[in-house]
Amino acid sequence: MKVEQVLDDLKRRFPNEPEYHQAVHEVLESIEEIYNEYPEFEAHNIVERICVPDRIFTFRINWVDDRGKVKTNMAYRVQHNNAIGPYKGGMRFHASVCPSILKFLAFEQTFKNSLTTLPMGGAKGGSDFNPKGKSSAEVMRFCQAFMLELWRQIGPETDVPAGDIGVGGREVAYMYGMYKKLARENTGTFTGKGIDFGGSLIRPEATGYGNLYFLMNMLKTRGITDLKGQVVAISGSGNVATYTAEKVLELGGKVITLSDSNGYIYDPEGIDSEKLAYVFELKNVYRGRISEYADKYGCKYVEGGRPWNEKCTIALPSATQNELNGDDAEILVKNGCIAVSEGANMPSTPEAVEVFLKNKILYGPGKAANAGGVSVSGLEMTQNSMRLSWTREEVDEKLKRIMSDIHEACVKYGTEPDGFVNYVKGANIAGFMKVAKAMMAQGVV
Ligand code: NDP
Repeated sequence: MKVEQVLDDLKRRFPNEPEYHQAVHEVLESIEEIYNEYPEFEAHNIVERICVPDRIFTFRINWVDDRGKVKTNMAYRVQHNNAIGPYKGGMRFHASVCPSILKFLAFEQTFKNSLTTLPMGGAKGGSDFNPKGKSSAEVMRFCQAFMLELWRQIGPETDVPAGDIGVGGREVAYMYGMYKKLARENTGTFTGKGIDFGGSLIRPEATGYGNLYFLMNMLKTRGITDLKGQVVAISGSGNVATYTAEKVLELGGKVITLSDSNGYIYDPEGIDSEKLAYVFELKNVYRGRISEYADKYGCKYVEGGRPWNEKCTIALPSATQNELNGDDAEILVKNGCIAVSEGANMPSTPEAVEVFLKNKILYGPGKAANAGGVSVSGLEMTQNSMRLSWTREEVDEKLKRIMSDIHEACVKYGTEPDGFVNYVKGANIAGFMKVAKAMMAQGVV
């Protein structure tokens, strides 16, 4: 396998999909050496079969807004790979959603799910529907219309969707409600469900908490065992960012930033638990903007900016893809940042990743560091199958164990001769090997 050749071919067959090309490039670069040690991979054309999704459903959704006007949106479900388990991955509702973004996310999800050690394949879906400013009734009608189209293609043993940007507990509940009515079964199928109808404790917290567990494992390799004295910059202010902040505070760190797509706030005093409770309310109840935090607490708000210029020792990007570029990475390193652990999927550009690796700081890529979310989704599926619920402590304990196992797998495959752990390489190789071997065992299907 020659990376450039495979990429050129993908770019020719699937032009204008930069995010997808970027994600594939990063994985192929990491696995090239080990892939070429197994001639049977090449004979089975594993590289191409693992890069191109099994199938993509594309459909139009019609729904009616509160003024009675008929609206249309495009929607997709990318079923990427089910070699090791049912397709599994979230739904994203955001104006930017397009095949390139969902293909990159489904591709990444395949390796991430493999890393969790749970039996889950990779998928992703969503729509260019923008939930901002929509009433709950509009969101409900949209979710129901979405399910009317998709319900036949998903199921507890086939494809199990969840949340992502713009899709939280409310949206999952609306989709699951309609799915259940159409499919006439009540076996789970979605994860991230409400706790009263099959959801798992700790699922809302899992991605943020899991990122901190992964970070603590990384810090331990440098002899750091708590967050006392650490100054933490977080981007985003949604599900992942807020629970990330909660766990940072619990572990003794200081959170100085949060953001949304309009800008970021910088609070040098630290966002303590009282202020964070306000952010939870602002985001989940009022669906407001992060600028309102600055109005309330009188701190700095930078319209249109990203938090990476602020001096911190740890950065936890938790908003969206490509939100941290090479220049941002240089500034972070210059300011004394020792660790970057990704809550979001592919938030660092390839140039930024290069800066982190060149400077040998601790860098946890999303597919390892944010795998806690899908891990607890996997645990939700297990609880649904068994028809019982585990306690908060039980789920949290399992989450900690999974994050620690993922860290160990990264160390196993990513340790370089000088002892530096390249977590990108480690995560990509560990994730890839399991899926590739499963595909080989199952023949040409
Ligand atoms: P939410 O919708 O809850 O929050 C997203 C946050 O990111 C919001 O603050 C949003 O601001 C901001 N944001 C979104 N798009 C942009 C953009 N283009 N530029 C700047 N800011 C933006 O989503 P989640 O917290 O669930 O997801 C955040 C990231 O974590 C995503 O990359 C997702 O794929 C990843 N992830 C999520 C998991 C989960 O369990 N939820 C699991 C693993 C990864 P605004 O409100 O202005 O849009």
